[in-house]
Amino acid sequence: SPAADYVHSLLASYPDFPQAGILFRDLNPVFAHAKAFRSIVDELVGTHVGQFDAVAGIEARGFLLAAAVGYAADAAVLAVRKGGKLPGPVLTEEYDLEYGSARLELEVGQLPPDSRVLVLDDVLATGGTIAATSRLIERAGYQLTGVGVVLELTALQGRARLGAAPVHAIVAA
Ligand code: IMP
Repeated sequence: SPAADYVHSLLASYPDFPQAGILFRDLNPVFAHAKAFRSIVDELVGTHVGQFDAVAGIEARGFLLAAAVGYAADAAVLAVRKGGKLPGPVLTEEYDLEYGSARLELEVGQLPPDSRVLVLDDVLATGGTIAATSRLIERAGYQLTGVGVVLELTALQGRARLGAAPVHAIVAA
């Protein structure tokens, strides 16, 4: 796809960041290219069109995608935040990262029950982050109807940790 071509040509890779043994993929150059960013948003909207009432972006680069996809698809936008940033009543999920562990939180009561939610993030690695987000969406009383990512690192088999909702990766590498 046009978006995949942009990702392949603009993606940067950094060995041993943020720690030894990790090959960090930097998508910021893709987001920083106007036509590349537009093509990514267009593909994510088109793949899931008609299937969601809201998009949930995972802090932080997922926020950038969710804002743009939500606007383009006329959908509501939810922010799934790292632990400790939200004041109100929240749901919390612990999860394992490729490096370390963390917490994600979602404010309760933002959408009508059974709202259909598309989860967006930049990278699907081990799947822990999106699996935790999926649990938050379901615990909040919503339906997870899809997952969209820019880059899926297939060697880490993150997709196997996710549920039945369709997962669309612009690039699987
Ligand atoms: P997972 O939970 O192992 O699937 O990791 C996914 C989360 O960690 C996402 O929120 C990504 O932003 C981040 N992440 C993991 N690996 C990379 C990487 O190589 N580049 C950029 N972000 C990454």
